[in-house]
Amino acid sequence: MARRRLVAGNWKMNGLRGSAGEFDRMVEAAPDMPCDLLVCPPATLISTFASRAAGGPLRVGGQDCHAKPSGAHTGDLSAEMLADSGAKAVIIGHSERRADHGESDATVADKAQAAWRAGLAAIICVGETEAERDSGDTLNVLARSLDGSVPETAIAENTVIAYEPVWAIGTGRTPTVEQIDEVHAFLRGRLRDRLGDVQGIGMRILYGGSVKASNAEEIFSVRDVDGALVGGASLKAVDFLGVAAVA
Ligand code: PEP
Repeated sequence: MARRRLVAGNWKMNGLRGSAGEFDRMVEAAPDMPCDLLVCPPATLISTFASRAAGGPLRVGGQDCHAKPSGAHTGDLSAEMLADSGAKAVIIGHSERRADHGESDATVADKAQAAWRAGLAAIICVGETEAERDSGDTLNVLARSLDGSVPETAIAENTVIAYEPVWAIGTGRTPTVEQIDEVHAFLRGRLRDRLGDVQGIGMRILYGGSVKASNAEEIFSVRDVDGALVGGASLKAVDFLGVAAVA
C-alpha cells in the first residue's frame, strides 16, 4: 500500500486571530499540494481555522490532549473538545510536552487512546536527546519510547509516528540522511514486529526537526520518510508550502 505523504505544521504557542490571513494562504494552496496537509495551531484558534478550512483538503489539529474525556482538570483540554472544535488530529508526546510537563511514555499511550476515542488521528512523537545519541543509545531509546508510547491496537488509519530528535528541534541542526535512514528503517521494522505487516507497513513515519524548504527535498528522498512535522517553518505560508510542494 502506497503511503501518501503528510506535512504537518506545529505552531506551538504562536499565533493570534490576526494570523488567519497566513493560514488562509495555506488553505488556498492546499488543493495544489502533492501531500496531505495539517496545521496544528494553538487551541484558541482551532475552531476559527477549522471553519476557514472547511470544504478543502487542509486539516486542523491540536497539539496535546488530556487522557480523560472530561472532569476536574483545570486548564486541560480533552480530545473530545478538540474534535468538537473541528480538529481531526492531535500531536501527542512532543518532546516539549515530555520535558515541560513530565509526560511519560505511558501518559502518551493513554493520550493516544483518548485521541482515537474522540475520532482523532494521533501523531505520536519519539526522539532521542543529544546525550543519548552521543552515547550510542539512540535505537535503544527509540525502541523503548515507541513500544511504551504506541498502544498495540494502533492502526495506520488513526496513527502517525513522528521521529523528532530533540537536539534538532528549533536548532537549525538536522541529522544526516544516513542517520534519518537508519532510524526510520528501524522504526518501520519495530512497527511491523509489534503491529503486524499491514499496519506496520501502512503507518506513516514523519521526520521532524528543523525541516525547511531548503532541506525538505533531501529529507523526503530518504526511504521510509513519509512526510514532516514542521515547527518554525510552518508559521509562514510561503515557508510551509515550500516544504509541502516537494513532499
Ligand atoms: C517541532 O517542534 O515539532 C519541530 C519540528 O520544530 P522545528 O521545525 O522548529 O525544529
